[in-house]
Amino acid sequence: MIPFTTVEAAETSLGRAMTWAEALWFRYSRSTPDYWLCFQSFLILFATYTLAPLPSAGEVAAQLVVYMLMEDYLGYWFHRFLHSEWIYDNIHYVHHEFRAPMGFAAAHAHWFESLVLGFAAFISIFAVPCHMITCWLWFAIRGIAGVEIHCGFNLPFSPTKLIPFYGGAEFHDYHHHYGGKWNTVTWHRCSHFVTTYMGRIAFTGTKTQA
Ligand SMILES: [Zn+2]
Ligand SMILES: [Zn+2]
Repeated sequence: MIPFTTVEAAETSLGRAMTWAEALWFRYSRSTPDYWLCFQSFLILFATYTLAPLPSAGEVAAQLVVYMLMEDYLGYWFHRFLHSEWIYDNIHYVHHEFRAPMGFAAAHAHWFESLVLGFAAFISIFAVPCHMITCWLWFAIRGIAGVEIHCGFNLPFSPTKLIPFYGGAEFHDYHHHYGGKWNTVTWHRCSHFVTTYMGRIAFTGTKTQA
């Protein structure tokens, strides 16, 4: 908190008259709590770094592809870890309370799971640093993709249909339907390599219990 209550006292301490902008800021900040001033500084920094010289579209696209691949690979193994016996029974079961998921189920999880899977999304940004706008885009895409794979509808007009090996709602619906052993994540490339792809075939074919 500023140790002066009047413009005159501040100017005496300063040894000169304040400009109109300084006086305006002084009148505002002298009675504003420090935590609110600090919060405003964060907003100003976020806005500055978001709008500061923007990266090229090619750079943004290339980084987003890298983030998706890294997150999908790490997310698969973290998710597989969440399906180990003790972790599933004590943590991941919360997310699987929705046997037929809908959009909101994407965020329905134990706090530890949110931490672990959040790490998979964050680590790519640390590995390949990006502009703030790319960071916002990445987390927006992650949020939208999370809702899409939990929405329960295999939407034919979804742009994700253009992505090769994209598992989408069909795979994740299957994953929630059976839970337990089978693992499918956003892209089923890993699942394919680690044989869980067979689970989906069973689901759409014989519906053999996992
Ligand atoms: Zn899920
Ligand atoms: Zn799961």
